[in-house]
Amino acid sequence: MLRLTSHRKKVYDILNNTNKPLSCEMIYEKVENENINLSTIYRAIDYFFENDLVLKFHFNNKSYYILNQDHNHSHYFICTNCLKMDKIKCNMKDIITDLKATKNYQILNHEMTVYGLCDLCSN
Ligand SMILES: [Zn+2]
Ligand SMILES: [Zn+2]
Repeated sequence: MLRLTSHRKKVYDILNNTNKPLSCEMIYEKVENENINLSTIYRAIDYFFENDLVLKFHFNNKSYYILNQDHNHSHYFICTNCLKMDKIKCNMKDIITDLKATKNYQILNHEMTVYGLCDLCSN
């Protein structure tokens, strides 16, 4: 288990208490501790990312983070307006099988995130 300093723990708790991806600025707005500044948040997020504790998404010209809690392989839909998130079943198996069979590629990993507007935001 990783040891978290109190500042890191605070950032971790904020990510743990939301079901939306958060940018460092959004985390900063939720921190009610005058000893924590924005660069503290960036450093904590960097640390989490290096240690596989968070997943990173890039949209709206910003990076957003969620906790990498379940280590099951999964993908996400993210609404770029309200930040609603939905898990998507992995549908890459056929493509990977095909790349192995037809091209003899050895596939190690893949990423896929779907960005768009959710049902509420698209109305
Ligand atoms: Zn939405
Ligand atoms: Zn997948």
